[in-house]
Amino acid sequence: MTDPSHSAADASLTKRIAVVGGGIAGLAAAQRLLTLAPTAEVALFEASGRLGGVLRTDRVDGYLIERSADNFITNLPWGLELCRELGIESELLPTDPQRRKALVVSRGKLHPVPAGFQLLTPSQAWPLATSPLLSFGGKLRMAAEYFVPRRSPGLTDESLESFAVRRLGREAYERLVQPLVSGIFTADPRKLSMRAALPKFWEVEQRYGGLIRAARATGGDEKTSMREASGARYGMFVAPRDGMGRIVDALAAKFPAGSVRLNTPVARLRRDGELWQLTTSAGDAQAFDAVVVALPAPQAAKLLADVDAPLADDLGRIEYAGATIAISGYRLEQIANPLECFGFVVPDVEKRDILAASFSSRKFPGRAPEGCVLVRTFLGGALRRDLLEIDDAEVRRIVQRELGELIGAKGEPHLFEVARWNGAMPQYHVGHVDLVERIETRAAALPGLALVGNAYRGVGVPQCVHGARTAAERILGVKPSRGSKG
Ligand SMILES: Cc1cc2nc3c(=O)[nH]c(=O)nc-3n(C[C@H](O)[C@H](O)[C@H](O)COP(=O)(O)OP(=O)(O)OC[C@H]3O[C@@H](n4cnc5c(N)ncnc54)[C@H](O)[C@@H]3O)c2cc1C
Repeated sequence: MTDPSHSAADASLTKRIAVVGGGIAGLAAAQRLLTLAPTAEVALFEASGRLGGVLRTDRVDGYLIERSADNFITNLPWGLELCRELGIESELLPTDPQRRKALVVSRGKLHPVPAGFQLLTPSQAWPLATSPLLSFGGKLRMAAEYFVPRRSPGLTDESLESFAVRRLGREAYERLVQPLVSGIFTADPRKLSMRAALPKFWEVEQRYGGLIRAARATGGDEKTSMREASGARYGMFVAPRDGMGRIVDALAAKFPAGSVRLNTPVARLRRDGELWQLTTSAGDAQAFDAVVVALPAPQAAKLLADVDAPLADDLGRIEYAGATIAISGYRLEQIANPLECFGFVVPDVEKRDILAASFSSRKFPGRAPEGCVLVRTFLGGALRRDLLEIDDAEVRRIVQRELGELIGAKGEPHLFEVARWNGAMPQYHVGHVDLVERIETRAAALPGLALVGNAYRGVGVPQCVHGARTAAERILGVKPSRGSKG
């Protein structure tokens, strides 16, 4: 598994390294450590009985069910690079090009997102002008984005709501931006940080004076890059044929026997001279040269409370939200809508009980038996925490009602499952970048410690992989991997 592109001088030193957390970040860190330093002794501690963290794929009654992430973006190279290294790149499927569009609910009806509207950027005049989603005044206000002055240089961060209303107007924000963007982060748009969550849009405003100006000035290049940065282009999304769990399985297959310890929560970390003392909740204590903490921030804070209290306090400042996904299998004839798209999003102003629905089996082949469709419906998020508490029967009732009204779903789904992700989604609030810089500075002062995972610099699978691989390289003192500057 040695990677010839790296000097292995330091990496070949025998080291004992603990990785705490077996989600994609912990797995990617462990794999990178083992690749670069085959003689290192890497021990991965996972609290639950399975690897993958939130990533989980199951096969049920002929359906391939993703319980959380169901794809990853490829314009950031790190997910793809990992799959290449694992030998599973040829198993990646693109999304169906014929159905690459999304709908948005407006006054109880579904309408296409106007062609060329990419999360925050109106780039084609005609589809917007003819769309019933915005009033005439709302369209004019959006077009006037061109004349809105750039923000004052003193503004160091801003919420999505403030940015979008300032540049595009309230109507475009409420009807398009809020459902398309904050859904990705299950966030409260009044708190979501532009700088942390949508840095490309934040930068282009400063650089070009506006979003439309940026798209024009660069003859489309910046438009493409904004679109890519936002993850709005379905063509850039891929998933393994057998689902995201395939990446987890391929990673797990790389680990030497005995290196993964399932059902072994880590309770405490302590510095002991040059070493790290790790204590499991069963009370076993072991010493390591280095520790990669690949946990959600609140758990990382608990572990590090005795090591560095201010660091733990800052970790504790990162808030989390959750979502519930209802997974329904229908026969196609039960649904009136032709479902020739990937799904729909629901603006908050519509006051409905769901955030979005994704027609999984219309995005990727092999997700549902012939003649059936797999629909994943999202509830909760930062704005509807009340819906995270309801039981499965109530989730089912709400989802059937909403799908009935919006896509004409009739009768009972023959498959119905609920995946709950309470507290699984870090919220990048205004000021997040500064908070993470403070956390990283304090962590860097503790030799042999790395913090990785979705809490810090990107929630997507590629960003988690990137942070993990970079941390592994830093711990071993080797040159950064290709693309790691990305
Ligand atoms: C519903 C949902 C949909 C998503 N959709 C997408 C998508 O389509 N595309 C995309 O790119 N990303 C998506 N994401 C984001 C992405 O999947 C996650 O950000 C990423 O998988 C998180 O990985 P992680 O390793 O940081 O954390 P986790 O997956 O949370 O892993 C942390 C692990 O640490 C373990 N652990 C906790 N405490 C301890 C302890 N004390 N000791 C040992 N182990 C411990 C946990 O059991 C868990 O296994 C989605 C996320 C969710 C929740």
